[in-house]
Amino acid sequence: MKVAFTSDNIAGASDSVFNAMMDASQGDAMPYGNDDMTAEVTSILSELFECDVDVFLVSTGTAANVLSISAMTPPWGSVLCHTESHLLNDESTAPEFYTGGARFVGIGGADAKMDPTLLKKVVTQKVGDVHSCQASAVSISQVTEVGSVYSLAEIRVITDIAKEAGLSVHMDGARFANALLSLGCTPAEMTWKAGVDIVSFGATKNGTMASEAIVVFNRSLSKELGFRRKRGGHLHSKMRLLSSQMKAYLTDDLWRKNAAHANAMMVLLQEGLASIPSVKINTPAQANMLFCTLPEGMADHLLAEGFAFYGGRWEEGVVRLVTSFRTPKEGVEAFVECARQFDASL
Ligand SMILES: *Cc1c(COP(=O)(O)O)cnc(C)c1O
Repeated sequence: MKVAFTSDNIAGASDSVFNAMMDASQGDAMPYGNDDMTAEVTSILSELFECDVDVFLVSTGTAANVLSISAMTPPWGSVLCHTESHLLNDESTAPEFYTGGARFVGIGGADAKMDPTLLKKVVTQKVGDVHSCQASAVSISQVTEVGSVYSLAEIRVITDIAKEAGLSVHMDGARFANALLSLGCTPAEMTWKAGVDIVSFGATKNGTMASEAIVVFNRSLSKELGFRRKRGGHLHSKMRLLSSQMKAYLTDDLWRKNAAHANAMMVLLQEGLASIPSVKINTPAQANMLFCTLPEGMADHLLAEGFAFYGGRWEEGVVRLVTSFRTPKEGVEAFVECARQFDASL
C-alpha cells in the first residue's frame, strides 16, 4: 500500500464535517455570520478556551494569520516571527498586503523556535525612533515549521518579552490540535494563559474542508478585525457553511481524535525510521511533521516505489514527512519497510 506524506492538507475532510455542510446547505439562514450556527461556534469556542472569545471564521490559514496580525500593527510597525515561519516563507506578500506594508522581521533560533535573547534585542532597539520601524507584534507557530512544539514555559518567555515591550502576540496554530495533544495541556493554557492575544485556530489540515477560526482573547482587537475581515474579502455571506464545518470539527472531540491519529502515525513513522542506521532524524517530531536526512538514492527509491513526500527543497537528502488524520497505519509500515530494505542494500 502506497501513501503520501506530502502534507496534512492532502487529506480531504472528515465525513461528519462534510455531512454538516450538507445539512447546513438546506433551508435559509441569515447571511454574513448573523446565523445561529455561527453564534453557536463562538460559544463552543468560548467554552473550550474557558473565557469569552470573539471568533472570526475565514477560509484559509493565510487569511487567519495576516488578518489577525493586521489588527496588531500599524503600517510603520514591524512584526517579529521566526526566520523559517510560514508568514515569512509561505504566504507570498499577503502579510505586507494585509498590514498595509508593515515589515516582517525574521528572528532566528534552533528548531524553528524564536531565540528569546535575539527577540529581546530587537524589541528594545530604536524604540520611539521615527526613522526606524517600530516593533509592534510577535507571531509564533505552534506546531513550528520543522515539527517541534514550544513548551508552555517557552511560550511564556516569548510573550513576557513581548508584553514588557508593549507588543501583541499572535499564535499561528495551523496545527493547533497536534501541538495541544503533544503537550497534553488545555487550550487555555497554550494560549491566553500563556500570554497569547489571538490564535489562528487551524482546522483545515486536521479535518475541515476550508474553515479556520481567528480566536480573539484580547477583545480590544476585535472591532478592527471585523472591518478588516470584510475589507480583506473574507466575510463570507454564507458563513453558516464555514460554521457548520467548525461545529462538526469541535463536536464529539473530532478535532482531538483526528490529531491524535496523526500524531500516533508520526510516532510509528519516527520510531521506524530512527531504527534504520542510514536515516538521520534532523528535528525530532513532537507532533505530526518530521524532517530527516535520507542516504543518497533512498528518496528516489521511495518515490519510485510510489510513496510521496517533499524533498529537494532543503539541504541535500533532507525530506519532510507529514502524517494526517487519515494516514493509514499500513502505509506507514510499508514506507518504513521500503526504507529498511533500501538501507539493507547499501
Ligand atoms: C498550512 C499552514 C498555514 C496556512 O496555510 P494556508 O495554505 O493558507 O491554509 C499557516 N501556517 C502554517 C505553519 C502552516 O503550516
